[in-house]
Amino acid sequence: RTVYVNGAYLPEAEAKISVFDRGFLMADGVYEVTSVLDGKLIDFAGHAKRLERSLSELDMPQPACLPDLLDIHRELVRLNEIDKGLVYLQITRGAPDDRDFAFPDPETTAPTVVLFTQNKPGLSDNPAAKKGIKVISIEDQRWARRDIKTVQLLYPSMGKMMAKAAGADDAWMIEDGAVTEGTSNNAYIIKNNTIITRHLGNEILHGITRAAVLRFAKEAQMKVEERSFTIAEAQEADEAFITSASTFVMPVVEIDGTAIGAGTPGPVAARLREIYLDESRKVAV
Ligand code: PLP
Repeated sequence: RTVYVNGAYLPEAEAKISVFDRGFLMADGVYEVTSVLDGKLIDFAGHAKRLERSLSELDMPQPACLPDLLDIHRELVRLNEIDKGLVYLQITRGAPDDRDFAFPDPETTAPTVVLFTQNKPGLSDNPAAKKGIKVISIEDQRWARRDIKTVQLLYPSMGKMMAKAAGADDAWMIEDGAVTEGTSNNAYIIKNNTIITRHLGNEILHGITRAAVLRFAKEAQMKVEERSFTIAEAQEADEAFITSASTFVMPVVEIDGTAIGAGTPGPVAARLREIYLDESRKVAV
């Protein structure tokens, strides 16, 4: 694979990051994952906008290459011949001369910018979309600024391991009795044809796929309620699903061992998946 590091396109084995990089030492970095279908980027503009917000919320310097990010994404997709897959982008506060809690002077420490691709031939016709996934609920033990897409992914990783140990595919996290989101996705239920998903706030990541799916749902005259819900309400729902850049719309068929609806993917989630894939392909870049 060819990867991008601070202005250079290099074979992955030749790419290097300093041991003093604050991303490595302190998880002082932000990231984005953009999907690629038919060699084109899905909702790049949405991801670029959220990236700028994540950087600014953390007072991170905007890297000089920021205006060129679309070109860099496209070049990596071309060099690695990605037809279906993902582009991962990470920007950290860079590598000062020594380890220190205080932020380094942005005049002397430039941000570190890394991009790589992941080839996922089955991305859009993932068999899991036909079967649905199983989730468990776990306590949400992440920090309180989940709206910033930082690389602090230890608790979500632990959540995936807890799901795996329980024979499930993912975990929905609970705070004050309500579902916040999945470990790497936004969570939804459907009751009487109304799509219910948690309102935006600092408690969840503002999913780029979420924004698009809700827009498409409203355009298709579907009812949407942005509010919190409990696991008990989800277990009584007609359908459930998750969204993210790497899963698009993925049905959830079991929550904490309880089947949702008929225990098979429901019609509304299937329709939303189809609309999302069709509409976002039309405007892919
Ligand atoms: N919520 C969390 C915690 C995530 O990590 C992600 C994606 O990685 C999402 C939601 C979905 O966001 P997006 O649709 O922008 O991929």
